[in-house]
Amino acid sequence: MVTATVPGEQVKIGQTRLLINNEWVNSVSDRRFETINPTTGEVICEVSEADAPDVDKAVQAARNAFTNGEWRKISATRRGELLYKLADLIEQNIDELAQLETLDNGKPLQDSFGDLGLVIACYRYYAGWADKVQGKTIPINGPYFCYTRHEPVGVVGQIIPWNFPLVMQAWKLAPALATGNTVVLKTAEQTPLSALRVGELIIEAGFPPGVVNILSGYGPTAGAAIANHRDIDKVAFTGSTEVGHLIMEAAAKSNLKRVTLELGGKSPNIVFADANMDAAIAGSHDAIFFNQGQCCCAGSRLFVEEKCYDEFVARTVERARARVVGNPFDAKTEQGPQVDKDQFDRVMSYIESGMREGAEMLCGGNQVGDKGYFIAPTVFAGVRDDMKIAQEEIFGPVMSIIKFKDIDEVIQRANATMYGLAAAVWTQDITKAHAIANNLRAGTVWVNCYDIFDAAAPFGGFKQSGIGRELGEYGLQQYTEVKTVTIKL
Ligand code: ADP
Repeated sequence: MVTATVPGEQVKIGQTRLLINNEWVNSVSDRRFETINPTTGEVICEVSEADAPDVDKAVQAARNAFTNGEWRKISATRRGELLYKLADLIEQNIDELAQLETLDNGKPLQDSFGDLGLVIACYRYYAGWADKVQGKTIPINGPYFCYTRHEPVGVVGQIIPWNFPLVMQAWKLAPALATGNTVVLKTAEQTPLSALRVGELIIEAGFPPGVVNILSGYGPTAGAAIANHRDIDKVAFTGSTEVGHLIMEAAAKSNLKRVTLELGGKSPNIVFADANMDAAIAGSHDAIFFNQGQCCCAGSRLFVEEKCYDEFVARTVERARARVVGNPFDAKTEQGPQVDKDQFDRVMSYIESGMREGAEMLCGGNQVGDKGYFIAPTVFAGVRDDMKIAQEEIFGPVMSIIKFKDIDEVIQRANATMYGLAAAVWTQDITKAHAIANNLRAGTVWVNCYDIFDAAAPFGGFKQSGIGRELGEYGLQQYTEVKTVTIKL
């Protein structure tokens, strides 16, 4: 058993190999790669590195489970029971999973517990759906009986990011398994560990061999092998818009596998002067700084109405300065390190670009401490729409405050982006709230709240923020094929 020491804690590391056909195996090449603790910059351990031959093996196992295996014969109710069992096992091991997530990703331990609440709820939500996915009988013309069946798509490749490793695994696995698919899931190279621990629990729950295969590995190798594979029926991807384009291209060039994408964002968060200011300031702070700013739906363009701008900016800076940054295992910590050196460098380069382009930096802008990848909560005011920090996804603890005058103008400016993942508005005027909710081109609009997630509420993007929806009943549609059966009477 490998254990990793972090300040005051001993975190148990579970499996580090690949999960293929319910067995833990080395990669075909025998290669391994290091996973780094972002709090210290030190190596936690090595994990097996999957590449195309391992993807082939995993796809074969998944195909076999889909066509010949026990999985095809079990009832929908039983699939639900297995998912309930998995949720129970995750709940029983919640402390260990939360610690592993914090160790590998750097997010505060309390946030890992928060994530696990969503994870458990997601598996239970889709467990409940397993035996409720049904077709229709259709009154077509003539002496025929016509009905539809909602069948699983088949072997599904799933590629997930590092910002919410356990949550993303749940959003991907739960609907796919509830509807009877088999899965080859690739984790992000920065954060392989928690998903492997869930792999152990998947075996313990009783899922048959080949139903869930979990690979650690890099994007351009293992990830690309999934996107290009001719025997994968669908690929579900969460990550950057740039890689989303590659995934869709690979699907088009290989076998026209179905594609669902949940991509980047540059979400407008709009504060009107008539808002409850305390709530708007607290909510806007969380909207950008939660999870070290590493959220695809972060409120990264903060539009503030001219009438309350000065007060809002002053109080927001005060709140950002008070944010507790430090050891993510400490209960007082609100913000941990960025996930790795690349992300740290990228965020710092956006901070430099904000200063270069003339935005006013009111706090932060610097590294915190001298090891790990901590960045001080940074607030820019006086941001113009054409600045890089207002256009591109920073994925870090950097707030960009933009002034606006009236509602029509802010709707037009908020929509002037290639993204359309989320948006929010803070106002006590119900007419304004509806005008924003109806006119913003975004998959989710929060009114007087932010980052409210529930397994039952769909999530996904307009425009280049994605294709398809995850969660809720809508999330099931992406994992089923509709078959029409017509019988002559
Ligand atoms: P980020 O820039 O936030 O790391 P990415 O989109 O690069 O986001 O990564 C999200 C996931 O996509 C990760 O699992 C990563 O390994 C994978 N990935 C990266 N590049 C590719 C690629 N060319 N093909 C398939 N998957 C990829």
